[in-house]
Amino acid sequence: MCFRWLNITRNSRIILAIVFFVTVSGCVHHHPLNLTIAKERVEKYHSCGQYDKDLDNVVHCALKHFKNISPCNNATVVFDIDDTILSGYCNEKSISFGYIPKLSHEWILRADAPAIQQTKHLYDYLVGRGFHIIFLTGRKHDEYDATIKNLNAQGFTHFDKLIVREQYEQNLTAKAYKSARRKQLTKEGYRIVGDVGDQWSDLEGGYSGYKIKIPNYRYTIA
Ligand SMILES: [Mg+2]
Repeated sequence: MCFRWLNITRNSRIILAIVFFVTVSGCVHHHPLNLTIAKERVEKYHSCGQYDKDLDNVVHCALKHFKNISPCNNATVVFDIDDTILSGYCNEKSISFGYIPKLSHEWILRADAPAIQQTKHLYDYLVGRGFHIIFLTGRKHDEYDATIKNLNAQGFTHFDKLIVREQYEQNLTAKAYKSARRKQLTKEGYRIVGDVGDQWSDLEGGYSGYKIKIPNYRYTIA
């Protein structure tokens, strides 16, 4: 970068150069990633094994943490379901990573989502230690039975409650709905020591204990 034509000091030239590069790079970052490329990267992330490696690391850290936590006095760990313990990846890939509520509902009713093995391992460990387990999902009340069926089929058979969204909660954000439910659970005497979810809205809002964020680069739920 040449500023010799400007009658300015060396320091001023440096500052101008910095401003120039920050401005240029800022403009570049304002352009979104092409959607086709984004989808290809998501597929690659899953197929190359990086997703599994990231999951391994998250669960490894969680296990290390819970080894020092007592399961006494109603110690409870709350788990989200979709893309936390049951995977929707193959279903979403089959519809090019779109979201169509009717198809999503039909997929839930089929009750054939596979377990995510790393979080299943964490669940098994916590059940074995005697922690209370509660499933707290954004799925709707008319999906309760199918969800129980899917959980049982994938080996999630020990839990205190499955909480689904009731009609009066349909318009709440996920964060508001889930944190309110955790608050209620705390009032009921559950001592929540951990919360596992693939969305930050599963974990924020209080009453969550130790937060375990499962990777998800496919969508965001507020
Ligand atoms: Mg989820």
